Amino acid sequence: MQQRGVTVWFTGLSGAGKTTITRAVEEKLRSQGCKIEILDGDIIRENLTKGLGFSKEDRDENIRRIGFVSQLLTRNGVIVLVSAISPYRAIREEVRQKIGNFVEVFVNAPLNVCEERDVKGLYKKARTGEIKNFTGVSDPYEPPTNPEVECRTDLETRDESVDKVFRTLQELGYLPTNSLAEIA
Ligand code: ADP
Repeated sequence: MQQRGVTVWFTGLSGAGKTTITRAVEEKLRSQGCKIEILDGDIIRENLTKGLGFSKEDRDENIRRIGFVSQLLTRNGVIVLVSAISPYRAIREEVRQKIGNFVEVFVNAPLNVCEERDVKGLYKKARTGEIKNFTGVSDPYEPPTNPEVECRTDLETRDESVDKVFRTLQELGYLPTNSLAEIA
């Protein structure tokens, strides 16, 4: 069976677990021989969207460009894993409509948990005002209303979250048949 392209879009607060889950999903998909690509928000901002800031307009433009690249890859049969805070609901919906084959994963941990983790030390800087417009602290985050997957990373293990993503991709018919047996 030929692989169907799909964009798997991980949205959530900084420190919620997007990168961690994306990397684990990547590894598992690669081991099954899937063609995949990762679009990581931080890396994209150093390249494709360098120069954009964190106003609503710039954040939306950032997501629009990531969405455009995802669309090109998806239509060529690639599984695209996007890991980006993507705080605004409307632009996520816009991208979903354009791409079509779109799976939204809400990587959800309460703000206080993300802040305790403070993986990159950014929350501390946001609280002191050193960083402005920080999502969850001084900028909005609009949670998905109807995501295909929700990973409560404060309540479940990384592997449980990864399994949820896999199961959904399987149910929606995005995994080649040879990978179905492995997770059955
Ligand atoms: P993000 O990419 O959303 O900013 P990261 O993946 O960089 O977040 O950081 C999430 C942190 O939370 C990591 O230190 C990770 O080990 C931890 N963590 C704890 N439980 C989970 C889980 N169930 N899923 C993902 N990450 C988890």
